[in-house]
Amino acid sequence: MSYFSVRQVSKSYDTRLALSDFSLELEKGSFLSIVGASGSGKSTLLRIMAGLEVQDAGEVFLDGEMILNPKHKLVSGYDEIKLIHQDYHLFPNSTVEENIARPLLQYDKKYAKQRVEELLGLLGLKEFRNRYPRQLSGGQQQKVAIAKALSVEPELLLLDEPFSSLDTIQTHQLISELKSLFEELGTTVVFVTHDLDDALRLTDNLLILQKGKTVQVGNSKELCEKPKSRYVARLFSPINLIPDRFNSYLRPSDVKLRSKGTLMGHVLDSRYLVHYNSLQIRLKNGGEIWEVDDPLRKYKIGDRVYLTWDEEKVMLL
Ligand code: ADP
Ligand code: MG
Repeated sequence: MSYFSVRQVSKSYDTRLALSDFSLELEKGSFLSIVGASGSGKSTLLRIMAGLEVQDAGEVFLDGEMILNPKHKLVSGYDEIKLIHQDYHLFPNSTVEENIARPLLQYDKKYAKQRVEELLGLLGLKEFRNRYPRQLSGGQQQKVAIAKALSVEPELLLLDEPFSSLDTIQTHQLISELKSLFEELGTTVVFVTHDLDDALRLTDNLLILQKGKTVQVGNSKELCEKPKSRYVARLFSPINLIPDRFNSYLRPSDVKLRSKGTLMGHVLDSRYLVHYNSLQIRLKNGGEIWEVDDPLRKYKIGDRVYLTWDEEKVMLL
């Protein structure tokens, strides 16, 4: 048996299916990101994993012990499993230090003090210890919430879109800090998000959830290069259907622009993006529109271009 396992869990709300026969196995200390659109069942799954929601079928085990849901446990939830949301749930009238110490009230005083110091250090919060939550940025408040959750040394940390209220710069900064923190602590972490980019930054291990079902599991490279469905392929970039070929697709970055070649088109539109110009190209035969990267920023609207590619880059979907 794996360290953490979710076995054939299903859950409906009235007639709406949120999770369908979902299974997952995790090793101790591993990180997994679960990526799914809004409504795909991510929060339902995490609440069931944490023993906070009653499933219709299936079981969850942590280290050989069955996680009991609120129907079977008087006080729902477990100290070993901590769930973190986008809202921080900090005590507004307590300082950073007091917030982190709060879950440790029943613990030995000396241990609690030492643990709080350790977490303040690990999360770079020492200089903010005497501040109140309202005196911190969103990213700093989320760090305090994470430190608070980690104070009781949970076995499993579940993060439910924890960056949704932060801006991109704050999110990237926090992700890189959390990545090293989790590696250092060896905590098992499941992160759910609708944002593939955030998932790729935090982990290399991904599960794609669609309508309460797993559609693909693998590392980032496998999922990007060998997606099993158009849905997974499109999470990474738009895809272009090759004319007169069956279900054969190319990514914008895999199309080469040449001044001579077979497939001809005209540049309809050009967008200046950070690493390349993104071109919309109307193909001559058939008139379909492709999206193609122009890394050298060579082409202008109206230009005639020829498109080519390596056959190994073609995705059959
Ligand atoms: P996600 O977190 O991926 O957005 P959720 O787990 O919140 O997905 O929701 C999955 C599905 O279950 C959605 O269709 C949602 O509308 C429905 N749902 C979630 N919670 C409830 C609830 N408490 N009552 C009724 N329907 C719910
Ligand atoms: Mg959700």
